[in-house]
Amino acid sequence: MSRPKKVILWFRQDLRLHDNEALTQALEQGDELIPVYIFDERVFMGKTRDFGLPKTDKFRAQFIIEAVQDLRESFQQRGSNLIVRVGKPEEILFELAQKYNTSWIFCNRERTDEEEKVQDTLEERLWSIGQEIRYSRGKMLYYTADLPFPVTHTPDVFTHFRKEVEKYVRIRPALPTPGDVKPSKDNIEIGEMPTIADFGHESIDFEPRAAIQFKGGETAAIQRLEHYLWETDAVADYFNTRNELLGEDYSTKFSPWLAQGCISPKLIYHEVERYQIKRTKNKSTYWVIFELLWRDFFRLMAKKNGKTIFQKGGPKGEIDPKWRNDVRLFNIWKEGKTGVPFIDANMREIAATGFMSNRGRQNVASFLVKDLHVNWQMGAEYFESILIDYDPASNWGNWNYVAGIGNDPRENRYFNILSQAKRYDGQGEYVKHWLPELENIPREKVHRLDTLSFDEQSSFGVKLGAQYPKSMINMGKWAK
Ligand SMILES: Cc1cc2nc3c(=O)[nH]c(=O)nc-3n(C[C@H](O)[C@H](O)[C@H](O)COP(=O)(O)OP(=O)(O)OC[C@H]3O[C@@H](n4cnc5c(N)ncnc54)[C@H](O)[C@@H]3O)c2cc1C
Repeated sequence: MSRPKKVILWFRQDLRLHDNEALTQALEQGDELIPVYIFDERVFMGKTRDFGLPKTDKFRAQFIIEAVQDLRESFQQRGSNLIVRVGKPEEILFELAQKYNTSWIFCNRERTDEEEKVQDTLEERLWSIGQEIRYSRGKMLYYTADLPFPVTHTPDVFTHFRKEVEKYVRIRPALPTPGDVKPSKDNIEIGEMPTIADFGHESIDFEPRAAIQFKGGETAAIQRLEHYLWETDAVADYFNTRNELLGEDYSTKFSPWLAQGCISPKLIYHEVERYQIKRTKNKSTYWVIFELLWRDFFRLMAKKNGKTIFQKGGPKGEIDPKWRNDVRLFNIWKEGKTGVPFIDANMREIAATGFMSNRGRQNVASFLVKDLHVNWQMGAEYFESILIDYDPASNWGNWNYVAGIGNDPRENRYFNILSQAKRYDGQGEYVKHWLPELENIPREKVHRLDTLSFDEQSSFGVKLGAQYPKSMINMGKWAK
């Protein structure tokens, strides 16, 4: 009798059992499955590439720990277990493969630079013992094989991309959640779950002002989907609420779960389809899918443009001579002390929670790059560090866009921060939520603190330059 085929299933940003292609293929081709997650020490304890920020700050670290724990429990419920380690995946997986004499390692392929290096190094080592990696795909709504163009010819303009895929491609069904996960018979030390303290972080204080209390894992992701669609019908109003800034349901908040693969975009797509049949079909329900297309678009741009998305000149290769690595300006921005309330409120939100709305992200990014003329890579690295939903392709792609160095031929977009603040926070509720020192300022003045007289400052209890900073730029330029 031939010996059973043992396979390792390496989880990365695909922390789920449903619609998991690598899992499905591992189960098809293996007789015994060893599921593994490795907290890569370079990712959890290292620094960002150029500006030395923590590579994974505490919010995302905590979220991932929760997601891995949830995955472990799902395997335990099926009589298996998730092996957890901290270290370098290419070393640990190689040792496991050698020790347990496995046949292959299955994983969903990653497509950005650092992730590719790890998988390539592992693959070369595996060849030396006659094993190999079997790759699947697990990130996108679309399969690259189904696209009506090769990846290298992906249209650079989002609208062109969207129109082509919507016209020609059907979204494949989500793969089912397996009941039997073919537990391994080897007695493998399962490994203790780390805590954020192991990665050098202080504990996270409960933040009552947060839009939402995120919890990592497939279970919480599916609950959020249920909540946003079936329990609240919030999805049927998404188009009208998506630019709001306060509260749990103005947007889906799917992003952290999508980034870690706790939920598959295909599952979301088909659930929205089902909702459209059973409840309502309108512009809002379509728009959630529209936004998911942006996510695919940036992933394809990352594949097409490779390393250039991380470089100062971006895919276009154009460096604005005004961009400086100005640490002082960068720190003022990062700490939310610019004296521009709409910017500061957003920056304090992200620092306190790891999350910021899309409207906020566009404004703070534009302000850093177009008003302060700071090198956009500093902003992108800060987001990489702090965001709970950090995704390499979406983050760097969006920053490329804001900096005007993506391949998108549209004119450089500039955000007039004052108009944006008045339009999206007309009552000043958002800025007061995150900047309580501005609480007594009337709504019509809260976005124009630079126009307050000394008398007004004392009657509102805010002395500019003391309780709240003076604006670091001339806000009058936005009022013209
Ligand atoms: C400078 C900048 C950096 C960003 N960095 C990230 C990042 O690291 N990770 C990330 O997931 N998103 C990023 N975004 C995109 C967007 O801001 C977030 O996806 C969104 O705010 C998450 O909230 P939500 O899930 O409620 O989004 P919703 O508005 O409910 O949208 C639904 C989903 O569509 C996708 N989506 C929506 N807008 C975009 C977009 N512009 N680009 C790519 N996908 C999108 C997301 O997966 C999102 O979860 C960035 C945007 C900017 C301007």
